Amino acid sequence: MTSKPSKTILITGGSRGIGRAVGLLAGLKGWSVSVNYRSGAAEAEETAQSIRASGGRAHVVQGDVSNEEDVVRLFAETNDVFGTIDAVVVNAGIVGPSLTLAEMTGPRLRNMIDTNVLGALFCAREAARIMPRPDTEPSGSIVFVSSAAARLGSPFEYVDYAASKGALDTLTIGLSKELAEKNIRVNAVRPGLIETDIHASGGQPDRAQRLGRQVPMRRPGTANEVAEAILWLCSDAASYTTGAIIDVAGGR
Ligand code: NDP
Repeated sequence: MTSKPSKTILITGGSRGIGRAVGLLAGLKGWSVSVNYRSGAAEAEETAQSIRASGGRAHVVQGDVSNEEDVVRLFAETNDVFGTIDAVVVNAGIVGPSLTLAEMTGPRLRNMIDTNVLGALFCAREAARIMPRPDTEPSGSIVFVSSAAARLGSPFEYVDYAASKGALDTLTIGLSKELAEKNIRVNAVRPGLIETDIHASGGQPDRAQRLGRQVPMRRPGTANEVAEAILWLCSDAASYTTGAIIDVAGGR
């Protein structure tokens, strides 16, 4: 009896936080994992080692998602190494210090949109080019990592970030219709307050504490709790789910 070839998942920003949790969980479930990072090579390699230690296959690929050439390369490299891309988790994202819109500089706004929106569009486009498959095969899957901020707006915190994530929600709905005939499902998760390094960016730990007081479940979520929802959307268990946006936010 021949064993089933493992499926391949590409995770942007897979070196830390939510992306790393998706990679570890995918490795445990037998996926081959392509771990993308921008600047933290050591963390990405450590994540890949952990995936291999649990029996999975892992490949590390550097690339800045806001750079079109990098995105084309990281998809091509993943496809070359594993021979297929079955699922893409568009996870890489940034959040800036809490500022009013009036205080935000041009470079801050450009970086937010270039990374969170343009980066997601580049990734989705490469997925749409590489992943189409006949409807006799299991579907491919794209999952965008949005945010509860897309729904709540985050006034006086980071409206640019909230707007960037709102764009991902709209992209999820539109692209799910466009790619349905190509047998690719497109979904999103909206994490709420999740314990990762992202809250240290901008040096405002009190923001996480203030957000935490708004969570009905009275605790932050873990990266693994978000990873479970993402991996379900990537898997064949979600074979009739497309255009869905799932909140993983403790009721917030
Ligand atoms: P982390 O800051 O812990 O990790 C971010 C990851 O993204 C790192 O692997 C980082 O790599 C990578 N990354 C950042 N910019 C780029 C880029 N331009 N190109 C490629 N990779 C990049 O973040 P989280 O795990 O917390 O967040 C993951 C996603 O979840 C983000 O999209 C975030 O907006 C979203 N989210 C998080 C929430 C939370 O409370 N944590 C809540 C709601 C949404 P490197 O270190 O090499 O730069």
